[in-house]
Amino acid sequence: MQKCSFCGRRPVIHQRYSGVYRCDRCLIESVEKRFRHTIADKDMISPGDKVIVAVSGGKDSVALMHLLANYSTHKNVELAVLTIDEGISGYRDESLKLAREGSKELGLKHVVVSFEEAFGETLDQMAASLNETGKPDTCTYCGILRRSLLNQAARELGADKLATAHNLDDEVQTIMLNYIRGDLARLSRFDVNPPGREEFVPRIKPLRNIPEKEITIYALLKDFEAQIAECSYISGLRTNVRDFVNELEASHPTTKFKILRMFEKLKPHLPDVSEGFELKECKICGEPTPEGLCRPCELLEQLGLGRRKKKIISN
Ligand SMILES: [Zn+2]
Ligand SMILES: [Zn+2]
Repeated sequence: MQKCSFCGRRPVIHQRYSGVYRCDRCLIESVEKRFRHTIADKDMISPGDKVIVAVSGGKDSVALMHLLANYSTHKNVELAVLTIDEGISGYRDESLKLAREGSKELGLKHVVVSFEEAFGETLDQMAASLNETGKPDTCTYCGILRRSLLNQAARELGADKLATAHNLDDEVQTIMLNYIRGDLARLSRFDVNPPGREEFVPRIKPLRNIPEKEITIYALLKDFEAQIAECSYISGLRTNVRDFVNELEASHPTTKFKILRMFEKLKPHLPDVSEGFELKECKICGEPTPEGLCRPCELLEQLGLGRRKKKIISN
């Protein structure tokens, strides 16, 4: 029988990319260490920072919330939790409850912002109109609207950093998607915070060096109350890319890390996105955009909706 490569106990995972076996304790230690190293390596958080962590209630974001809660008590960091309620019945209502209970347990302030109050409709309602067009791309709409709302809410809450739970798999999928779509501009913007733009809260991703599978096992071992189910709207190219990368990783372990490292090597050679990048105010909602109309408003217009130009955080 295999043993943990570090302590000889029963293993819970075989990390094929590094060739080692880890038991429950050694896996927990490894996840927590990589989380701290990722923050330190990129100087993601400074003492005195106010960090808003985006928590959907899924296993990744719940794990990140616990990791950051622990981290912030030792580092003079103010932490609060933000949840976007897209309005997905049977899915988000369950995870919203988990996010609320989790933040309460940790004694963290929890703010919820809904699509309905910000945009006038729930995602379910938007999906119904999108279905009528015959080209439903609900997942893409949701992603763009959610990102924009996260930024606006974090800014209004006075955040210095917005932490999201993107893991290694998410990062690799996004990089590959940009290659496949041939989108050099978007690839250049990926993982770059526009310098000195106070309208954009700098985003940090402390789980980006940890494979999804390890975070899932970590969340289970730590007994976190979190949602495992996948959103029913997930579709399109991203799922194909995910399956393709997973297949590659199965036959060629280290593929995911190599794709991420290759992107990091390539990044300094990509066009400088901050150069000539001029921000205007969106003529409808006032949010920052390089165009006259921001992308969320453009999408909302197609659905006959409008973003409300007002503060979304009331207290
Ligand atoms: Zn061990
Ligand atoms: Zn707008």
